[in-house]
Amino acid sequence: MPVSAEIARRRTFAIISHPDAGKTTLTEKFLLFGGAIQTAGAVKSNKAQKTATSDFMEIERQRGISVATSVMGFDYQDYRVTILDTPGHRDFAEDTYRTLSAVDSVILVVDSVKGVEAQTRRLMEVCRLRNTPVMIFVNKLDRDGKPPFDLLDELEETLKIRVRPLTWPINQGRSFQGVYNLYSKELNLFRPTKTTRAEHVVAVRDLHAPELDAHLPAADVRQLRDDVELVEGIYDPLDEAAYRRGALAPVFFGSASNNFGVQELLDTFVALAPAPIGQPAVSRFVRAEEPAFTGFVFKIHANLDPRHRDRIAFVRIVSGRFERHAFYLHTRLGRKLRFANPTTFLANDKSVVDEAWPGDIVGLYDSGQFAIGDTLTEGEPLVFQGIPRFAPEILREVVNLDPMKTKQLDKGIRELTEEGVAQLFTQQPGNRKIIGTVGELQFDVLAFRLEHEYGARCSFRPLSIYKAYWLEAESPTELRDFVARRTNSIAYDRDQRPVLLADSQWTVNALKQNYPALNFLAWNEPQ
Ligand code: GDP
Repeated sequence: MPVSAEIARRRTFAIISHPDAGKTTLTEKFLLFGGAIQTAGAVKSNKAQKTATSDFMEIERQRGISVATSVMGFDYQDYRVTILDTPGHRDFAEDTYRTLSAVDSVILVVDSVKGVEAQTRRLMEVCRLRNTPVMIFVNKLDRDGKPPFDLLDELEETLKIRVRPLTWPINQGRSFQGVYNLYSKELNLFRPTKTTRAEHVVAVRDLHAPELDAHLPAADVRQLRDDVELVEGIYDPLDEAAYRRGALAPVFFGSASNNFGVQELLDTFVALAPAPIGQPAVSRFVRAEEPAFTGFVFKIHANLDPRHRDRIAFVRIVSGRFERHAFYLHTRLGRKLRFANPTTFLANDKSVVDEAWPGDIVGLYDSGQFAIGDTLTEGEPLVFQGIPRFAPEILREVVNLDPMKTKQLDKGIRELTEEGVAQLFTQQPGNRKIIGTVGELQFDVLAFRLEHEYGARCSFRPLSIYKAYWLEAESPTELRDFVARRTNSIAYDRDQRPVLLADSQWTVNALKQNYPALNFLAWNEPQ
């Protein structure tokens, strides 16, 4: 198959939601439709919000063993579908944001009872930042949720994106009958089924055909006809280009656990969602069709056995053909590397691949040479953009509890921060190590893994720091002067870029006023 055909059939995306909206359930139904799993219950929810920290460690450990669950690929119709899993817990939002840099589109799941929730809004902000095309699945229509028109208004207002419904629910709660497909103008009445694909499909071509009454209560038929008329009156026909630009979100209604509306979503998704286009690098935009292979690391996962320090680096292929055993340039290290056992994650099963295409994710065994954001090419010294680091909101100093294990501690902290568990900043004099995270839980994970994987013990001393900001200025002297005058509140990130450790919002505001030539950045990207 030519490269362009391989690219055109790929759909690489993430399903995102506020915890409990139904992300795991929807993922599982997709896998059932794709034939990747045979029964429900095969996909483990990786939620941690209801569990104690110790349980969480166990969950993480299990997830470490089944790395395959972070990336799930399967063939559906003529498409190669790849779903990237994202943690729902807020403390791991950063991991989710990075995963979003490796997808071409997202499906956002919203609970019809709760409407738009906090995490939904934050995730949507990240999508807007990158103009990621978004489809929305309003879930749990089998419960008495908000009326569909109200939900559409709420989506538009709180998520700041135009919406266009492509399916319409027939009733809600106990009387929920299924959805009318506004896109294909078909009516599929599903019967609830928890374990397999829905078998009871009634295809009705014309909404005004009398046979509709044979399948639905008269009141529902009337309501559906009225609703559809109203929808078509209010909303313009779907503007596919606006969707691909990230300016308009098609909306689907359904119930993931009952398999209502899921096939409509999946069928429309594969038809409309964008194939890989390319990725901006610092020097230029790299198009997916370019013949030379390029890719970047968006996630690093500890390997199954904590005694072996092996990790798996997840590489998103941006352009060209990736080949097993070929030499590729690791642009940060300036070294050529080759990979004997690259893996894919097809059908929930890890297997070695000989080649891979734009949109694919390959897992590379990593003995410590990779960090998040690293780029591989055939020789061009590229660095991909779009793998943001966010300003940490909790900062603590590392206190070594076992001076005999200083080396292990240093190594552990270096490797785990490269893996993206937390961010490391160093402050002079004294080489103080400051760890920054976006959530409390990450400190627990760090301490646990340092002890169990590196044999090092440490605690984290709270610092009275409000937030960290990366500093940038047009003129290097301006920046140097500022840094020299405030050494006490300056630390350096892993790339030796200066970071301001601000003690309050007030300080930040005052500094912004006094130093208009400086930029205080809440997130940054490779330069
Ligand atoms: P996640 O945290 O977003 O991955 O959510 P899950 O998929 O784990 O779902 C959270 C809870 O909602 C679970 O108890 C599911 O069984 C339930 N759930 C998922 N989809 C539906 C649905 O369509 N209707 C109802 N009533 N419950 C659902």
